[in-house]
Amino acid sequence: MLIKEVTAKSILSPSKIYPWVINPYTGCAHKCSYCYASFMKRFTGHLEPWGDFVDVKVNAAELLRKEILKKNPAMVWISGVCDPYQPLEGKYQLTRQCLELLAQHGWPVTVQTRSPLVVRDIDILKLGKDWQVGLSITTADDGIRKLFEPYAPPIQARIDALEKLHQAGIHTYAMIAPMLPGSEDLPELLAGKVDTVILDRMNYNHSTAIYRRNHLEDKMTDEYFAMTSTILRSAFTRLGISCQQV
Ligand code: SF4
Repeated sequence: MLIKEVTAKSILSPSKIYPWVINPYTGCAHKCSYCYASFMKRFTGHLEPWGDFVDVKVNAAELLRKEILKKNPAMVWISGVCDPYQPLEGKYQLTRQCLELLAQHGWPVTVQTRSPLVVRDIDILKLGKDWQVGLSITTADDGIRKLFEPYAPPIQARIDALEKLHQAGIHTYAMIAPMLPGSEDLPELLAGKVDTVILDRMNYNHSTAIYRRNHLEDKMTDEYFAMTSTILRSAFTRLGISCQQV
């Protein structure tokens, strides 16, 4: 893993999904096989495979302190093309510093991560107005998780993190994206721990080999995703949890 401290030119960027996005890191050590952000590699100048390098934007908070005064307050997505709580956040605390500033200035925030490290920042997350925190949880089966996301935290640790956040009074959501085999069993595990759920199918080509190698081809068809989506939507609705598909 190549880790480099870099000085970024800006940090609060426009996004197509939410008005603003903050990526305190370039690259992501979670290295999920289907990572939708891997296209970013060509803009980084790195020759290493996606997942084998992380640039740490050590001046992230310093930039945000200035940029937040010049831009219009609107929803900020943390993060778009990296996990803001990947392991290096434990040391650098860049996400935490950015959240502190956003809370001080009253900006709305959506946090999205696969890491239970997010609970470290419950003290700040509780301060935000119109804030929500989501954990991406793609399957209930940790064996399947290890096939597709071997470097990301275990599923149970993510569920426990959601529970702690929810108990702290923070609006929580689960991002079941992509719906991996075993995602059908998530509703009962997430009951009482999330306010909303977002579903998405696997529409990235990168994981085809993993499906084939593990004889899971029948779990990567349009029919499978449609059926799983129907099962999940109806189960979450029964639990009183709103469910949307992107
Ligand atoms: S956590 Fe997100 S950004 Fe990081 S490798 Fe996985 S899908 Fe990509």
